[in-house]
Amino acid sequence: MENKKEKTAAELLKEKLSYNPENGSKKLCIEEIAAADAYCEDYKTFLDKAKTEREAVIAAIEMAEAAGFVPFDANAPLKAGDKVYVNNRGKALMLAVIGSRPVADGVTIAAAHIDSPRLDLKPNPLYEDSELAYFDTHYYGGIKKYQWTTIPLSLHGVIIRADGSSVTVNIGEDENDPVFCITDLLPHLGREQMKRPAGEVIRGEDLNLLIGSRAFRHDDESESVKLNILNILHEKYGIIETDFLSAELEIVPAFRAKDVGLDRSMIGAYGHDDRVCAYPAVTALLACGTPAYTAVTILADKEEIGSAGNTGMKSAFLPYFIDDLAAAFGEKGHHVLSKSICLSADVNAALDPIYPDVMVRSNAAQINYGVCITKYTGGGGKSGTSDASAEYMGLVRRLLDGEKVLWQVGELGKVDAGGGGTVAQYIADLDVDTVDMGVPVLCMHAPYEIVSKIDVYMAHKAFLATMKR
Ligand code: MN
Ligand code: MN
Repeated sequence: MENKKEKTAAELLKEKLSYNPENGSKKLCIEEIAAADAYCEDYKTFLDKAKTEREAVIAAIEMAEAAGFVPFDANAPLKAGDKVYVNNRGKALMLAVIGSRPVADGVTIAAAHIDSPRLDLKPNPLYEDSELAYFDTHYYGGIKKYQWTTIPLSLHGVIIRADGSSVTVNIGEDENDPVFCITDLLPHLGREQMKRPAGEVIRGEDLNLLIGSRAFRHDDESESVKLNILNILHEKYGIIETDFLSAELEIVPAFRAKDVGLDRSMIGAYGHDDRVCAYPAVTALLACGTPAYTAVTILADKEEIGSAGNTGMKSAFLPYFIDDLAAAFGEKGHHVLSKSICLSADVNAALDPIYPDVMVRSNAAQINYGVCITKYTGGGGKSGTSDASAEYMGLVRRLLDGEKVLWQVGELGKVDAGGGGTVAQYIADLDVDTVDMGVPVLCMHAPYEIVSKIDVYMAHKAFLATMKR
């Protein structure tokens, strides 16, 4: 027998009048939690094959082509239901489903980024010291450098040879592959090192990747370990040392996405920021049918270093695409942009009860409480952000509530605790109503980040609800 207590007048009033974010693991029905778990199985597969922006573009195109998307042709006519994509230099991607309403009514944009903090090889990376071979690196994005030592690392990227031919590199992901490592000092001899501030315990120039230790035989020259590595690379990839200059090689954690927790409620992986929003932004677009408003998903590069460059969100690739889209219907691009809306699909920091001091609970996102709406990011008095309007926030609320999406609000930490930015401001700069929405992450920017499966699924539902407006 169930013994259900009647709600008191105060409880009823609180329910009616208060902002009550709810824990999805308590609130959602069993079927919905099962749907979230199932959705995340495919997300984990995506994570494992898309550890870099280039790999994410390939994986997303694979998903899109399987769903009938074709490369966009600016000279071909477009009609409702058409599905197209633009591959920007293999590092950024735009996908669109043409809606049934005139494009002049605006489009719905979901913009995520597919670059993540990592270590890049320097243009001349290979060196030998004390008969050990190393790759010298330059870190990319905001990292705690000490987190990148003594973990298995893999090497991903592309090398362009002198004759223009290209080689794709992916070493350390296959079970049978070797991995690489950045060494750290043993605690026995770390007394002086441990007195340094955490930001200097491991210095940027200490991030050197150990890649070999055996000498090239039949050779008494100096640097024969380096020579041996060059020989291996030449035999495997047909490259010479100079080819590193025309390469983009990225070092990322070699571990795979795994369930975290005895209850398997979370996923641990490298690069949730921002694949945990990029993936739902793609799956939502694939699931939106023929929407009323043309729906566009953008996967951008270079967010972690300020969205600069021709594959970053500050570049003109979005307005150029909207121009072409508008022209296909005899409209002007800026008229389309001015009526468009955007979800800047990026992660936010989840409340970590071990480090509660950087958050104010009433405005902090918690894992399992659903997709997080972040009205503004920035820092130092809302600098460096777009701040979504009341009107647009009102629309987003209505859309999410209409589809029963579990959502919460979250600020990026306490006032003056620090701060950060997303692509939101650059899209808002194009006269588009924009707000940040994404998945809360524990230990963001660490080699191993953690998210809740419920929240990942709610991001998919939130983007879908918005695209179907
Ligand atoms: Mn991000
Ligand atoms: Mn980030």
